[in-house]
Amino acid sequence: MPDPVRAPDHCCVCGDPIEQPVAQGRPRRHCSAACRARRQRATRARVKAVVASVVGGPDLEERMRAALGRLPEEAFDLPADPDQAALLVLAEAWVLVERLERVAATGRPELAARCAGAAAALAASLI
Ligand SMILES: [Zn+2]
Repeated sequence: MPDPVRAPDHCCVCGDPIEQPVAQGRPRRHCSAACRARRQRATRARVKAVVASVVGGPDLEERMRAALGRLPEEAFDLPADPDQAALLVLAEAWVLVERLERVAATGRPELAARCAGAAAALAASLI
């Protein structure tokens, strides 16, 4: 049974009522797949905007950490199953290694070096 404190009665996108499942699991926050997809697109756009607002400069790490604190909780959603969550995040980390390496090959020198270093450090930590 979903936690009645955390289980919303209405869709966080359109406001329509939500029927929570009787079975165990994470409570629903959306009335439909369309609303969930709309929320995911909005979250992705917000993540991109936040990241774009902090890229570059000497205090990048500090500003990036502050920006992460401004992201909606949905940006950090994970599958309820801990094994699935771990596998998903590890796969995302490998995708990030690849993306960092690609950016390192094309970005401004000061950012490219930072990306290459991050790719190498992250890859080494995943092996
Ligand atoms: Zn909805």
